[in-house]
Amino acid sequence: MNLIEKDLKYIWHPCSQMKDYEEMKPIIIDRGEGVYLYDRDGKEYLDIISSWWCNLLGHCNPKISAAVKQQLEKVEHVIFANFSHEPAIRLCEQLSEVIPKGLTKFNFSDNGSASVEAALKMSFQYQYQTGHKEKVKFMCLSEGYHGETIGALSVGSMDLYAKIYKPMLMDAIQITAPDCYRCPYEKSRDNCSTECFEHAERAFEEHADETCAIIVEPLLQGSAGMRIYPPAYLKKLRKLCDKYEVILIADEIATGFGRTGKMFAFDHAGASPDIICISKGLTGGYMPMAITITTDKIYDAFYADYSEGKAFMHSHTYSGNPLGCSAALAVLNIFREESVLENASKRAEYLNSRLNEALMGHPNIGEIRHLGLVNAMELVADRNTKRGFDSGLRTGYQIYKKALEKGLILRPLGNVLYFNPPLTIKEEEIEKAVSICAQSIGEVTQRSR
Ligand SMILES: *Cc1c(COP(=O)(O)O)cnc(C)c1O
Repeated sequence: MNLIEKDLKYIWHPCSQMKDYEEMKPIIIDRGEGVYLYDRDGKEYLDIISSWWCNLLGHCNPKISAAVKQQLEKVEHVIFANFSHEPAIRLCEQLSEVIPKGLTKFNFSDNGSASVEAALKMSFQYQYQTGHKEKVKFMCLSEGYHGETIGALSVGSMDLYAKIYKPMLMDAIQITAPDCYRCPYEKSRDNCSTECFEHAERAFEEHADETCAIIVEPLLQGSAGMRIYPPAYLKKLRKLCDKYEVILIADEIATGFGRTGKMFAFDHAGASPDIICISKGLTGGYMPMAITITTDKIYDAFYADYSEGKAFMHSHTYSGNPLGCSAALAVLNIFREESVLENASKRAEYLNSRLNEALMGHPNIGEIRHLGLVNAMELVADRNTKRGFDSGLRTGYQIYKKALEKGLILRPLGNVLYFNPPLTIKEEEIEKAVSICAQSIGEVTQRSR
């Protein structure tokens, strides 16, 4: 039996209809370098989606690899209750300097969903312990995504992931999210006054009394198809949360660490959330790690004599893993030494202009939207009505398969194709990715017309 046959014999791949694998076999990756992955035959794949948005500074980045190797010689893991270690301590000290201000206390876990669960429980318990036992519900935005564990799914709104599980989820209060491409107020991104914020205002008027927290993906609803909305929305939300004493949770798992052009998406709004969840880019894509970071105010509501029973009784075995912390420290070091944000913003302009030149004239591209290096192309059957392709056609998936043959990993989100490359991608790599992308779109849409 060869490796592919054995893979199919044993492995249940994530987020996949396994029957699709009969036709499209798993690609067995042997090694990675920079923006490229290589299979066992040496075929190269340009990883324009950063291996599910986590690979931040290239595969096998020599500096991160060296930092993890060094830590491996000292200690690989240690219980994080009552014990600590230098990488975790130094990491928090250094993160303090780059996260939105006011966020001061760090609670470690090992994946994005887990950090969201911690944020939800923390918010609930904060309200409970500060005299608001009636605040038991959560608010979220429609089309939001916060992970796939039960709590995270409950505050997510994407039927694709949640529908079948509805009977076992808590019911959250869902606010209609901004939809800038198909704006119901018929505004453009240039003359928008966040009219859609009225949905949030109404929800708060009706439900804030029973709500402990609201969770949002700031500026970029990733899984929904890289939907981008303006910072003014976050500013207004910050004010509303203050007025009604609702905790504001920023899920920056996808947007953190320079993806949106600033270190964190909330920085665009000149405001701070009460809780921030970070993961994906945190270790550069090296180790599973996440942190839920909050304010002194929230932390203090848990700080009491043991007998009062106010502690946050929440743990994960791999909390604060030293290998993850040393990878994350190396990431921050690279940001400082290599001016990562400045260079990424130059290449962000280049990427967007190249994509526009190559594709904006195409009859099936409705919009190319961008924030930092993230660029999303909305595939439409009709540009005038903005009608998308029938999902049964799986147009995005067909383009994905075509691009894979040509050596580009362009995994779609329904009818949206996107680039979310490592921040260190080079111009010639952008050039190559844009060209394969345009060819693949051309070939597939030609066929379906
Ligand atoms: C990926 C993601 C999560 C979930 O993180 P996992 O590590 O996959 O559990 C949560 N929220 C957002 C915005 C994400 O992009």
